[in-house]
Amino acid sequence: MGKDIAISQELQNYMLGAIPPEPEVLQKLAKETLELGSASAMQISWLQACFMQNIIRMCGAKKTIEIGVFTGYSTLATALALPDGGTITALDVDKSWTDVGKKYWHKAGVGDKINLVIAPAIESLDGLINDGLSGSYDMVFIDADKPSMSKYLDRAYHLLRRGGVVVADNVLWGEDVLDEGDVSEDTVAIRAFNKALATDDRFDTSMIPVGDGLSIAIKK
Ligand code: SAH
Ligand code: CA
Repeated sequence: MGKDIAISQELQNYMLGAIPPEPEVLQKLAKETLELGSASAMQISWLQACFMQNIIRMCGAKKTIEIGVFTGYSTLATALALPDGGTITALDVDKSWTDVGKKYWHKAGVGDKINLVIAPAIESLDGLINDGLSGSYDMVFIDADKPSMSKYLDRAYHLLRRGGVVVADNVLWGEDVLDEGDVSEDTVAIRAFNKALATDDRFDTSMIPVGDGLSIAIKK
């Protein structure tokens, strides 16, 4: 589900004081997401979203894909960082969750940057490839069902331009990747994804322990 890896609360608070405050509209969306109970743990935190916003700015992204929207917090953070005319193709299977986000996307005035597609993400990604959109995206955020991560990475490779960036969430899986006895489908898939990406010469890859672990891979 995504529990943040252990950084002391004290250090987290210090870090939160060292970055801009969370925009009010994201605070409100996070508050409504909390009301969903344990599922709310799937949402990325402001520390992570703020970092991703700078990745978007650093690579000059205009056209992005998000695989796994949930209540649209990461979607909104992305849309807020994209320039005017920027777009995010947001993929999820669950309309009731994405409906929560939609209200806030429009409140924030970025609703028209977000193209939400409700369907299994693999079908949507293959649809974009079949539509001739390969090589045209600047960033792909992978944050949906973990067993499909490696397939999403392959589709992302096709859809990204050279220099485009894959950001993958939950790569440390609350440190469960270290527990060799954990052979659950999600943990095994994340371990395999990390191992393959380390030596995947299609990308320049790095990893940071923000949130539940983020891998950043730049298409060569
Ligand atoms: N990025 C979001 C969290 C996403 S949680 C945030 O930071 O707030 C994972 C999401 O993946 C869920 O909303 C779930 O509905 C979606 N999902 C699961 N399987 C999927 C699939 N096969 N295709 C598309 N979305 C999927
Ligand atoms: Ca996640």
